Amino acid sequence: MLGSLRFRTAAAYVLLIVAAFAALALYLLPKVEGDFRENIEADLASQARMVENLVQPLVEEGAATATFDELAKQLGAQTDTRITIVAPDGIVLGDSEADPATMDNHLNRPEVQEAIRLGQGESDRRSATLGTEFTYVATRITVDDALAGIVRVARPTAAVNSSLSDITRSILIAVVITAAVAAGLSLAVGSTVMRPLGRLAGAARSIASGNLAERVRPRPSGEVGELADAFNHMAESLQELVTAASQGRERMIAALNSSVDAVLAVNAEGRVTFANQAAERLFERSGGDLVGKPFAWAMPNEEVLEALRASREDGRRETRLVERANRQYFRVITTPIIGGGEWAALVVFHDLTDVRRVEQVRRDFVANVSHELRTPLASIKSVIETLEGGALEDETAARDFLSRADAEVDRLVQIVEELLELSRIESGELPMSQEPVEMASVLADAVERLRRQAEKQGLSLTVDIAADLPPIIGDAERLARVVVNLLHNAVKFTPAGGSVHVWAGLAESAVVVKVTDTGVGIAPEDLPRIFERFYKSDRARASGGTGLGLAVVKHIVEAHGGTVGVESEPGQGSTFSFAIPVPSSSHGR
Ligand code: ADP
Repeated sequence: MLGSLRFRTAAAYVLLIVAAFAALALYLLPKVEGDFRENIEADLASQARMVENLVQPLVEEGAATATFDELAKQLGAQTDTRITIVAPDGIVLGDSEADPATMDNHLNRPEVQEAIRLGQGESDRRSATLGTEFTYVATRITVDDALAGIVRVARPTAAVNSSLSDITRSILIAVVITAAVAAGLSLAVGSTVMRPLGRLAGAARSIASGNLAERVRPRPSGEVGELADAFNHMAESLQELVTAASQGRERMIAALNSSVDAVLAVNAEGRVTFANQAAERLFERSGGDLVGKPFAWAMPNEEVLEALRASREDGRRETRLVERANRQYFRVITTPIIGGGEWAALVVFHDLTDVRRVEQVRRDFVANVSHELRTPLASIKSVIETLEGGALEDETAARDFLSRADAEVDRLVQIVEELLELSRIESGELPMSQEPVEMASVLADAVERLRRQAEKQGLSLTVDIAADLPPIIGDAERLARVVVNLLHNAVKFTPAGGSVHVWAGLAESAVVVKVTDTGVGIAPEDLPRIFERFYKSDRARASGGTGLGLAVVKHIVEAHGGTVGVESEPGQGSTFSFAIPVPSSSHGR
């Protein structure tokens, strides 16, 4: 591009020079030609007068014709001029180039006629004698005021024309040389100006392709140097702006990624333009997978789509409560971004699942406590009423009723104590001993405690404990409680003929205990909540348990830094397990 600019400048110079010379030639050539012809005519006229001066005495003497011809030939040989001497009657007396005897009468030649009339005459015409173009000048010879003859000199016009074409050729040569020099000069000057401009253009292209650190260095001289300064300055500001913008973007993305709420940015067409890490987890897609997809593809929920439309089109902030699969609850907030370019709206998914769960657990807890307390209280009340109604008189009946009331009070005390114990473990108030505990002996004791009950129910109780289990650090009494609770449930929920199996081993630096039964099992929808306080599956309602046993298990295990687990198949049986980490010092045992 710059190259063509260089050539265009050179071409303009050449054109200018050619035009100037052409104008000069158009103006000068006719003038030169006119002057040239005038000069020749004046020259010829003075020659004519000289010849006239030579001829006049001869005429006066009345010299012979041959004398005139001789003189003409002699003078003609000395000059490049044709000389003709004509008698007053037009007969040619002498001629430097031809034999007068063969020549026409010259009286009617225009220059001769003019000379007779005016003393001198000129004419440019073809010679009838020689057949070429001549410029003629004739003068009159007068003797005693009478016409005594005419002297005519002539020069071929071709000579004039060739002189003129010589001049024209010289002008042309000058034009060609000057134009060539001008073109060369302008190309040379052009390249010294264009080279820095070319560097400037190269730097601009480099910046456009993303290399913001590009500068024009070293600085070119002159005006291009000033242009380069301005350019470098501009590049500097551009780089600062872009750096600031990208830093701002990085900070914003870091902030969005640190949010636990999933955040999606959506453009004006409703396509996802950004997804934070929480969104990647929520939608189980990588950011690259989400970006560019329609928002409806990620979240095909009519209410949310409607809210997003309202935000994008009306600039309103909208909030919707949405339930996704797996009982996940979200508060979805759509916020318009005015002037956000590719980010037309932001959609935030605030996970309410846990909040909802906690609320539900609290509601259930209150309902369950009330329910669990109401049953024994109602029994006690009815015992008191019966006693008041007369049973007090009958001593055996009274004793019977009192022992029933006593049992209900025991149940109340058990519930209240378990609740108290739970809340103490939870709040960390309950002191737990931190002693080495051999899990094998804890398990053996617990199994022995429940063996009679299992046998009474017609169940087989088997044990498989790995030898060399390393000791764990904790509270032996409470760990025994955990095992008893699990075994108790297994026995309670397994019909006669079934079996209960206790397994203990070491896995991933933890002592793992599993209690497996072939009992009634637990419905899948109950499994996630089975360790909650008071949670009982429907078919266990009548079993008379408090629903606190597994909650106690969970809390004690967690207080030991361990985890609990359950797997169950309704009708097939259940496996409850817990794992308690082994302190690192006893690993290699
Ligand atoms: P409960 O005192 O009622 O036994 P838990 O907290 O020990 O209270 O158990 C809660 C519920 O878990 C029980 O009501 C029962 O529905 C279920 N459950 C616990 N263990 C078993 C098991 N081994 N087999 C089947 N269901 C069980």
